[in-house]
Amino acid sequence: MPQKTIFTARRLSASTFLVNEVNDVFDENPFLYAILVPSANTLVLVDTGCDGRSRTPDPGVTRVRDFLERVPVGANGDRPLNPQGQLGYVVVLTHCHYDHILGVEQFAHDSQIVASGHDPSFVSPENLPKHSLCAPLDLPTPTYTPTLVPHSSLLSSPTGTSLNLRVLHTPGHTPDELALWHEEERMLYVGDTLYECAPIIFPSEGSIVRWFESVDDLIALVRDADSDGGLLTRINAGHQTAGEPAMDVLLASKAFMQDVVSGTEPIQRRWQKRGDTFVEYAQKGGRFSLQCPERLVLLARRSPI
Ligand SMILES: [Zn+2]
Repeated sequence: MPQKTIFTARRLSASTFLVNEVNDVFDENPFLYAILVPSANTLVLVDTGCDGRSRTPDPGVTRVRDFLERVPVGANGDRPLNPQGQLGYVVVLTHCHYDHILGVEQFAHDSQIVASGHDPSFVSPENLPKHSLCAPLDLPTPTYTPTLVPHSSLLSSPTGTSLNLRVLHTPGHTPDELALWHEEERMLYVGDTLYECAPIIFPSEGSIVRWFESVDDLIALVRDADSDGGLLTRINAGHQTAGEPAMDVLLASKAFMQDVVSGTEPIQRRWQKRGDTFVEYAQKGGRFSLQCPERLVLLARRSPI
């Protein structure tokens, strides 16, 4: 009998697996990524999910660390991704929203937790309950001490071996949103900056103006990487989108957001949330949609993009 768990895993490349936490009580359906780097004795975990808050009755293994260490994965030759925890962990948080950090305490006592150093006060212990959305949702805020890294930092294991992963600051969705660039594998991890087939959501602290700047930076990076005729870069997001051609997803999401800002996309609905008027836009065909404070669209409309 396969072991019961709320996680599924599928292989994206020789070293990388998509770990999907399914049927969580928030309907976030988060995408986590496990990048195995045996040469550095490390498993890099991108985001930590909802900490097993599941709608599934009798869900089995609900801690992502237990899943990684104990549950056999078919796509990994029926072995766990990190049997008995042989590899150490480096955890990269794409940003501090609850559905990315609720599982982080499973690692915080013995592993490096990496986050963006773009706006340290945004993720300070005083501000984290609000900015993670844990306080508004009445959830306990996880306790952890992130290593806040500068833009373009190359990550290494605790013993100093390179992990071949570069952290890029990509503010927009939140001030602390980051992307992770695995040049060797041509994989770009973008967190909640963008994804397909579910609303891209900006909180009150988001900025569409910054989002365009960050997406333009990512487009330039992918254009450069794809120009040498080798592997095409693929994009892995915090929800819904994994393993898709990066340039196509980046350009199409930018075009949708330009339609929103120019007024070509009509507002589908408007409502009040956390003291802001929120609006929703939805592209015909359903590939891209957006929920954000209306204020952010109006600000972007007044800015040269
Ligand atoms: Zn988010």
